[in-house]
Amino acid sequence: MVFKLMGAEFKYTICPFCGAGCGIYLIVKNGAVVGVERVRDHPVSAGVLCPKGVYSWKLIRHPERLTQPLLRRERGFRPISWKQAIKIIAEKIREVRKDDPNRAYLLSSAKCTNEENYLMQKLARTVIGTNNIDHCARLCHSPTVVALLRSLGSAAMTNSINDVVNAKTLFIIGYNPAESHPGLFRHIMAARIKHSSPSASRILAAKFPSIKHETRFKIIVADPRKTRTAIHADLHLQHRPGTDSYLINAMTKIIIDHDLIDKEFVENRTIGYEELVKSLKDFNIEYASRVTNVPLKLIEEAAITYATNKPSTIYYGMGITQHRNGTALVQALVNLALITGNIGKPGAGVCPVRGQANVQGACDMGALSDFYPGYRAVNPENAKIMEKLWGTKVPEEKGMYSSEMWLEAQLGKIDFLYIMGENPLLSEPGYYRILRALRRIDFIVVQDIFLTETAREADLVLPASLWAEKTGTMTNTERRVQLIDKIVDPPGEARSDIDILLMIYKELGITPLYNGPKEVFEEIRRVVPAYHGITYERLISNRYGIQWPCPDEKHPGTPILHVEKFPTPDGRARIIPVKPEITVKTTKDYPYILINGRLISHYNTGTMTRRILELLLKESSSILIISPEDAEKLNLLDRDVVELETPYGKERIKVRISPEVPPGVLFVPNHFVDPPVNSVTGDIIDQESGIPEYKGIPARINVLK
Ligand code: SF4
Repeated sequence: MVFKLMGAEFKYTICPFCGAGCGIYLIVKNGAVVGVERVRDHPVSAGVLCPKGVYSWKLIRHPERLTQPLLRRERGFRPISWKQAIKIIAEKIREVRKDDPNRAYLLSSAKCTNEENYLMQKLARTVIGTNNIDHCARLCHSPTVVALLRSLGSAAMTNSINDVVNAKTLFIIGYNPAESHPGLFRHIMAARIKHSSPSASRILAAKFPSIKHETRFKIIVADPRKTRTAIHADLHLQHRPGTDSYLINAMTKIIIDHDLIDKEFVENRTIGYEELVKSLKDFNIEYASRVTNVPLKLIEEAAITYATNKPSTIYYGMGITQHRNGTALVQALVNLALITGNIGKPGAGVCPVRGQANVQGACDMGALSDFYPGYRAVNPENAKIMEKLWGTKVPEEKGMYSSEMWLEAQLGKIDFLYIMGENPLLSEPGYYRILRALRRIDFIVVQDIFLTETAREADLVLPASLWAEKTGTMTNTERRVQLIDKIVDPPGEARSDIDILLMIYKELGITPLYNGPKEVFEEIRRVVPAYHGITYERLISNRYGIQWPCPDEKHPGTPILHVEKFPTPDGRARIIPVKPEITVKTTKDYPYILINGRLISHYNTGTMTRRILELLLKESSSILIISPEDAEKLNLLDRDVVELETPYGKERIKVRISPEVPPGVLFVPNHFVDPPVNSVTGDIIDQESGIPEYKGIPARINVLK
């Protein structure tokens, strides 16, 4: 989609940052991108962008972009030709395939397109012969994949982002959309305005006559911090970190005890309710109130509002998933929705909000060590299905989670690591642990747009391209598959990730060789059932995308899942009891609980946003947020430097005093390298999903004299 104005071309694409997938126009003048314009009728962004989207174009001709393949020699990196680089990779793949395919590991990327993720996982499975493939979903929403698949039969957000206007109650837990997905948060605010302001409602009524004005919209936020989202809540449950299972189970128990369940829904569409009731028989809600530090009255009000002021929608993020019991917590939220019938209707759903632009798509494509494409669990039976589809042998044993791979790498058990567009040195827990692991791996390839912290440790660095420099599809958090077109050429000799992968395929003699992204997508359509009906042609005429599942070419896509039945073998959802657990406890030595999260102007490990001056000016280094009460106790002033210590490490860090955290809780944003705050996070993982526990680390503050 292109239009011309004042000598410039406005070319449609999407923002490359978060999973909201906002539509943008890149403004092109004389062949160069000179700015960004909003897309007023895009279903997500609807004419509004956050600072990251506004400045995304600054990455395109950034002076630090990688422009040549670089090989590590004794005295640092030296440029080599693409021919040499691809030959070296092919040789390394042949070696590891011959010796032991499971000593290879591939990290794919939620920043890359579906086509690129598909080719990367296929390289691991069909060429190298291992299921050792993963990407950053292991660190953010792997519990969502496990729990939602098991319970609902589909590992994705059930409703569309703009469907929030149909909800009467919104329960947001462990998630701060005002900072992490501003494009989504504006829909929550639009719903709030629609429901509460008569003048706004008049305007909206004129614009959208089909939407009925409601006045009972309630926002419940459960978050240990007074976040930018929580300040808009009608009810803020400021629970102690690590007590989410007590809070959610208490709400469930209250709903059952008050007989507020949706009996018809439970009877006709679920199994497992009786076990849930049995499991909560002796659950003590007064004790839950004490453990969570939330007054019982507030928990009751939240539960009753959620169950009665329907339809109700749940939004959750990494405050739920990044725990040692992350999968159980997702299940607990699903239970809440199922017993109240809050699923499969407008305004009623369970919405995990994905972090990166294409994390949903990378999961759909099977860039996971435990799932083949289309969420087929890795096992001998599904390996046979994949063998039929691909016409070649497919490994049938689960690969390692990336979180497990780093432990193996530390022991010298990984020979070949190929990283496409990820920066594990800052994203994985344990900066120094990952550094040690990287230094024990025989050969590391990093394919990226900048010389990231991880790329500096590589043996071979490949210059890749940005989203605006390639064609392919991305799937946003609400399952919306959108086509992005190549708008400009990559700088120097940089190549798109798909071109690089196809060069490797060719060098290894893999057939059939795909002639570009469209041919790869044609194969994706055959292999991933939810994508069967989506074609490039349809995506060109539906510029704002099609939401999967889309079973055939006439199907319009699916904004709301589970309307009539669940995609489980018997069509019913599973209610599965969840054991309450306190996942973090303070001690005399570690009297604080440390949590981390995002800031509005930065993004994940900051490899892109730390290179955009306008965003860097807003925040440029790690800070430790502490409550005024704790600061006073420790005699600290704003900007003092302290030593933050956890059982896993310590770092010197600047203090910021803010009432956004309650006494006893500390917060650090996770985007910066000075200091790298992942050096103080631990390596405990959720056994069901492999996600590391980032949230809730016991901590102490050593005041420096
Ligand atoms: Fe980009 Fe997300 Fe901001 Fe939208 S909300 S502009 S997708 S970073």
